Amino acid sequence: MTDVVKDGMVVSIAYTLRLANGELVDASPEDDPLEYLHGADNIVPGLEHELDGLKVGDKKEVEVAPADGYGEYDPEYVEVVDRADLPKDLMLTLGMTIAVTDEEGFLEEAIVREISKDQVKLDFNHPLAGQKLHFSVEVVGIREADEEELDHGHPHSLLMDEDEDEFYDEDLDEDDDFDYEDDEDEDEDEA
Ligand code: ZN
Repeated sequence: MTDVVKDGMVVSIAYTLRLANGELVDASPEDDPLEYLHGADNIVPGLEHELDGLKVGDKKEVEVAPADGYGEYDPEYVEVVDRADLPKDLMLTLGMTIAVTDEEGFLEEAIVREISKDQVKLDFNHPLAGQKLHFSVEVVGIREADEEELDHGHPHSLLMDEDEDEFYDEDLDEDDDFDYEDDEDEDEDEA
């Protein structure tokens, strides 16, 4: 029986991602397809849904509306902060992405939109929020996920090192035995 893309399968895709204006914003490197666990929200929902039932070798052009991609652009996610609240040694340039720790201690990425003498306008929207996405996708591999992958909610590639796995595992439930304290300390140093 031929494997098809469905929940619980690790799927490898070669893809390009273009915006409505044709600009290429992302692509899987040649010979290095993206592996993801189908049904586990590893990729944007509008794309995942369209890959359902495909087989190895199938190609598809997929249009994804913002709501099924990286979300609508929300002006409320734009905040003006005092420069004094940012690290003094941080060199700010327009368009750069900086990591900011929110009240709950989570790291959030923001794009610097405006810089004035005393204030900085930070945009917490995803860089692709509000964009209609066009994916050209080819399914290049399908296999069953193992128990651990299903448990973690992502594939474990042979090349993945432990740090990388921990990075992906940050969203795990509390009953998993990862050392959260350590991770938080590291985050603070970086921010
Ligand atoms: Zn894992």
